[in-house]
Amino acid sequence: MCGIVGYTGTKQAYPIILKGLKRLEYRGYDSSGVALLNNGELNVYKKKGKVAELEESLVGINLDAQIGIGHTRWATHGEPSDRNAHPHLSSNGKISMIHNGIIENYALIKQELLNKGYQFKSDTDTEVLLNFIEDIKNNNDCKLEEAIRIALKRVSGAYCILLIEEDNPDTIIAARKGSPLVIGIGKGEHFLASDASPIIEYTKEVVYVNDYELAIVKPDELILKNLGNEKVTPYITKLDMELAAIEKGGYDHFMIKEIFEQPSTIYDCLRGRLDAKEGYIKMSGIDLHTEQLLNANRIMIVACGTSWHAGLIAEYIIEELCRIPVEVEYASEFRYRNPIVNKGDVIIAISQSGETADTLVALEKAKENGAFIFGVVNAVGSSIARISNAGAYTHAGPEIGVASTKAFTGQLAVLMMMALNIAKHKGTITNDRYNQLLVELEQIPEKVDSILKNAEEIKKIAEKYKDATDFLFLGRGYNFPIALEGALKLKEISYIHAEGYPAAEMKHGPIALVDENLPVVFIATNDPYHEKIVSNMQEIKARKGKIISIITEGDKVSPTISNDYFEIPMADEIVAPILTVIPLQLLSYYVGTLKGIDVDKPRNLAKSVTVE
Ligand code: GLU
Repeated sequence: MCGIVGYTGTKQAYPIILKGLKRLEYRGYDSSGVALLNNGELNVYKKKGKVAELEESLVGINLDAQIGIGHTRWATHGEPSDRNAHPHLSSNGKISMIHNGIIENYALIKQELLNKGYQFKSDTDTEVLLNFIEDIKNNNDCKLEEAIRIALKRVSGAYCILLIEEDNPDTIIAARKGSPLVIGIGKGEHFLASDASPIIEYTKEVVYVNDYELAIVKPDELILKNLGNEKVTPYITKLDMELAAIEKGGYDHFMIKEIFEQPSTIYDCLRGRLDAKEGYIKMSGIDLHTEQLLNANRIMIVACGTSWHAGLIAEYIIEELCRIPVEVEYASEFRYRNPIVNKGDVIIAISQSGETADTLVALEKAKENGAFIFGVVNAVGSSIARISNAGAYTHAGPEIGVASTKAFTGQLAVLMMMALNIAKHKGTITNDRYNQLLVELEQIPEKVDSILKNAEEIKKIAEKYKDATDFLFLGRGYNFPIALEGALKLKEISYIHAEGYPAAEMKHGPIALVDENLPVVFIATNDPYHEKIVSNMQEIKARKGKIISIITEGDKVSPTISNDYFEIPMADEIVAPILTVIPLQLLSYYVGTLKGIDVDKPRNLAKSVTVE
């Protein structure tokens, strides 16, 4: 994870880097720091905590420099502290480096360096790589660029590194493998960052650096090379993103802004793809690859976190509508066990950032075995999007709040359209049912809007239960994964222990937790098993648990059993999860903010999990 920014040009580097780090803070906020190079003098400033704390500590200091690098950290090796913060300085103090990722064989290299008499000022894997580079440079009497290339050939793991050195006062050298890097091209200046958000207000022309590439960046020159020292022509693309999309726009937090954006993000996701009146769904990623998708022996969905929950819902929908067997896997498990993946299998990879390290590696492995990869990704141009054989973007726009909200509903919209499209091509759905579900999907943005209009009701519920120490979330069928998602969201944002369960499974264990202090959230909308879930509510009520139910408007029974309830508009059970998740997002947001938690940057989390 972590955010990386670099600048070389004619402007003051520090303000550009600082602003960029603030934009990238969603990627990590354990510590931050900058290294600035001024007239051949290298200075490093770093501080534990959020970027604002670094900024405060530097007030009044002369930070004049036209080249610099900055980092906001998500610690993997060594506790969050000043000394483990990046940038690090090499042993002779002449080279400074920032790093996103993990050097897996750092212990071995560190031992070699210790044997040579090197000393380390931090516990990080990063400092090991940096001193390794310095050692190679000294021994071979070569340029920094050459030393980096040699070092990286020995390194295993993931990295995006940026280095500056005293002897080369206008050059940043960068390299990546497995962690993202974008370079913005300005007039007589270059910007480097983990994503485009720090760059967007200066230039729209960017180059996405690929794995195993090294960039030598000067104010008016960008050279890309592979690790074999051959030049690679930079591929310049235009950013399709506006500054407003990455600012809070009057909301207190990105999370609530993104929750409230959902009517328009879901609309954007459906727009141009679905037309209920004309009765079609057009998705080029599917229409161009119907052979692979219709003849799939099975579909495996690979994802992490909230995206994995979207995968569970997709499993139910695809099996129901397309009659293709589906398995859903945590990417982190998939990649380390020995899964059976063959030609004829389709892997759907779901990821907001498109950079999730575990998912990325899992895909590479599946691709080697001949599987067809379909990416459901939010970040345009991201690594997963690029290695997929086909895919569909969720078009939710930049998601900055660490807890995923609008990306999740975008994923559900894409996966639902995908299932309908495949079912239609395959003939496993009747025309009536197909047309009915198109109408249902098309109505979703409006229905989400009507739910958001009642957000205050959820705030009142949050006020009532914010001091609970545990929560249980229960749902059945398509809403079971929503119970998991509701529990995850609450854990992430409010630090309250929460568990999600299939409602009927409750009797096999979790019911022992129920007492008069336990709030139990039922996702109990109108579906064929509604009566069953009402019985489950009775079981909780009989044990004095507090029932909060998410129900369909017009339900007369559930309110009589519930302590609190929230109504959502009538919807088919297949599309209902896009609606039922909204009150649960709001619940976690309000509980978190009422408890005084910084919901955009909850402790220990980072948004884009680019380490394993
Ligand atoms: N592994 C490095 C560290 O622990 C970098 C982590 C990151 O990507 O922020 O410092």
